[in-house]
Amino acid sequence: MKKSNLYRLLPAIALLAASACSTPEKLVTQPDEKVSQWPRGVSYEIFVQSFCDSDNDGIGDIKGMTSKLDYLDDLGIEAVWLMPMSPSPSYHKYDVTDYYGIHPDYGTMEDFKAFVDEAHSRGIKVVIDLVLNHSGKDHPWFKEAAANPESPYRDYYVWAHKDDPMTTGEGKTTGADSYNTRHWHSVEGDDYKYFGYFWGGMPDLNFDNQKLREETYKIGRYWLQEVGVDGFRLDAARHIFPDDREADNHDFWKEFKAEMQKAKPDVYLVGEVWAEADKVAPYTKGLPALFNFEMSWAILRALKNGNGDSLATIHAQVMDLYEKQNPDFIDATILSNHDQNRIMSEVGNDMQKAKMAAALLFTLPGSPYIYYGEEIGMRGKKPDEQIREPFIWNAPHQDSCRTTWLQPQYSTDQSIIPMAMQAEDGNSILSHYKNLIGLRNNSTALTFGDIDPVTFDNSSVSGFVRAHESEELLVLHNVSGNLATITIPEELQHFRKVKYQHNNSRANGRNVQLPPYSTLILSR
Ligand code: CA
Repeated sequence: MKKSNLYRLLPAIALLAASACSTPEKLVTQPDEKVSQWPRGVSYEIFVQSFCDSDNDGIGDIKGMTSKLDYLDDLGIEAVWLMPMSPSPSYHKYDVTDYYGIHPDYGTMEDFKAFVDEAHSRGIKVVIDLVLNHSGKDHPWFKEAAANPESPYRDYYVWAHKDDPMTTGEGKTTGADSYNTRHWHSVEGDDYKYFGYFWGGMPDLNFDNQKLREETYKIGRYWLQEVGVDGFRLDAARHIFPDDREADNHDFWKEFKAEMQKAKPDVYLVGEVWAEADKVAPYTKGLPALFNFEMSWAILRALKNGNGDSLATIHAQVMDLYEKQNPDFIDATILSNHDQNRIMSEVGNDMQKAKMAAALLFTLPGSPYIYYGEEIGMRGKKPDEQIREPFIWNAPHQDSCRTTWLQPQYSTDQSIIPMAMQAEDGNSILSHYKNLIGLRNNSTALTFGDIDPVTFDNSSVSGFVRAHESEELLVLHNVSGNLATITIPEELQHFRKVKYQHNNSRANGRNVQLPPYSTLILSR
């Protein structure tokens, strides 16, 4: 080892030594058989560019990702969601220029088909990002549309005359997105402007055009049938039509689902509808799985103010809203994703709080998604690049697949213990994730159960019962930095067996002691 490398490792070793002082968490009972079944299992979101580099060009790629499938399998992951991989001029690849291709930086279609096969052979499903709201400005459709108003592709996009109140801002009093000048963009020498909700580089596609709709179904069928993916994560799902046409958005996704089910009856669709639960709920008819942003905000609030007593009630209310629309909905829960500051940074790099966030994620209802690197405590704050930093697999001189396309600001060798070292440490956040995923994957109550809030006279405690078929669990978390002493209500006194404990929580009859950021799960 070079001296300089040893020096770089020292802070990580110090961190490791400090964490070894506390008692490892206990999984008291562990059934032999996995009970969870995708889509009710745990999924893992990957930004391919930052995950693993197989050919040493500094950019993550498909072959690198394939080499890490055993890691994901070992972690207990049942599906991956891959951020966009198709040709695109930007590093994030949300401005697609060829919906049927793989970006050469990431490899070839053959590489990707091999990845899908390897994932499937481990029982891991593959979900890819499908960006249908807009194309890239460099997509051949838009190039033709912009160059020639008579082109059949002109109507694949949304245009309005430069004197139209929509583009001049004169109609802005309606408050609708369509009248916000920010979303209208000029083409040189053209009297018409095009609508691009996010920015000029991403012109919105026109879903009033039936031919365009057919194009998107064809793209979906290609990936499901020719490539063999299991489903899609639908980007910007609430922007297909502007915000004054919400019902049209809901209807489009119902039509899209029906078309995709013709190609693959068990297709999985998870939508990004960035909004409060009441706005999200009507989408569950077309998009059976939706990200539960509301709960991610609630978990963060609980950790910031040390009050956990309303979490179970909020989750029960959200589920109720969704269930009324679609009893079979899948509640895709998250702590954060590629558009948000990483959870570790949001809790001020407090390892105890980050571990508590994970304990909440895996014990509350839902089918959780992990954002890559979250399980090793990676940090990151906006701008976006800095929440998408390279995964730290190993010490620098031993890290054969670390990507170098971006200089990390938050997740560095100084701040993060590499995955390989964490894997050897029972107290690491990685071991904590693995234990919790194992616990969840082996529990019908945690995987499928409803939630019944239990209130205590201590607002730091999040308490709830999860039950399904013959399994019933009483889950207790202390989300604060103070010791919580509580009494289990008489009607729940049959919960006596310790199923899981973290941070020295203990029960003596109905009396429970929950040290700061501790968890206790009791079964009958
Ligand atoms: Ca590479």
